[in-house]
Amino acid sequence: MFDEKDHDRNDALGQRLQRIGGQMNPSPELKKAAKTGVPLRATGRNYTVGTHVRKFTKAVLVYAAGILLFLGAILLIPRWFGGNQPTPGGSVDPIVTTEPTHEECEHDYVNEMPLGGHPCTDDLSYTSRCKNCGHRVQHNVPAPGHNFVDGICTRCGEAEPADCEPVPDDFAFSITFNVYGISSYDSETGRLVKTNDPANSDLEKYATTLILSDEQMEEIYRLLSDLDFASYPTDYSPTDASSKPPAYWELTVQMAGDSHQVCCSFLPAGPFEGRDEKAQAFIDTFERICEIITSTEEWKSLPDPEVLYA
Ligand SMILES: [Zn+2]
Ligand SMILES: [Zn+2]
Repeated sequence: MFDEKDHDRNDALGQRLQRIGGQMNPSPELKKAAKTGVPLRATGRNYTVGTHVRKFTKAVLVYAAGILLFLGAILLIPRWFGGNQPTPGGSVDPIVTTEPTHEECEHDYVNEMPLGGHPCTDDLSYTSRCKNCGHRVQHNVPAPGHNFVDGICTRCGEAEPADCEPVPDDFAFSITFNVYGISSYDSETGRLVKTNDPANSDLEKYATTLILSDEQMEEIYRLLSDLDFASYPTDYSPTDASSKPPAYWELTVQMAGDSHQVCCSFLPAGPFEGRDEKAQAFIDTFERICEIITSTEEWKSLPDPEVLYA
């Protein structure tokens, strides 16, 4: 394989290396190269590994910095932009909880608790929470109470409880009604007369004793109190209408040491309307009292008058 030229060339290289070796302290590799004649050259391997290590270290540092920035952003951005922060403990705190950005926040509160309970008689307790900063406020609203207008609460629709003012011990009334005033009742004596003008003159056949119950007496007392019975004149004409034969009404009421009487002559015998609101109220009350009396078994047990008025 080696010809003369190659041999000479190697010889010349060896001599040259030996000269170099003489001038300095050669490394073993250099000595070996000088002996073998194989040229010494850089492999490039060490260079490559060193570069990778430096690149890898640099990349790790860049990634670490990136992760730190990312974590920082996650923690800080919601605070900068007023994002929701969980309230410590997550419970309803009666004292206002202050968030870091609370002062700068233009609060936008929403109620958290459903508003239950009775709107008039229950105290309301609920919280509201700011949608922007999480600021919570506890509200305690005392029960407003009912607002009765004409006996009905405008808020909850409940009826006003009955007036509990007791009926005066001396409350009593006597009433005369029907055509010509033939029928009458006196609560003090309990005497009930269906007609005082019977054709056969047997008056007691058409009279009996009626004791109204406490409830019936109380209803009549409330009606007369609401009516302000004492404000009506003794000779009273609640309507312009009339009929023949006429009806006659008379009502005498005694209460709290006072007595007042109202008489109405020449009334229509059938149903009629009052000349005004006050007259109608009187008519309604009077007719209700008559209805209470004539719906009793005592009244129904009495025979109808035999004389018919034409
Ligand atoms: Zn807020
Ligand atoms: Zn109410």
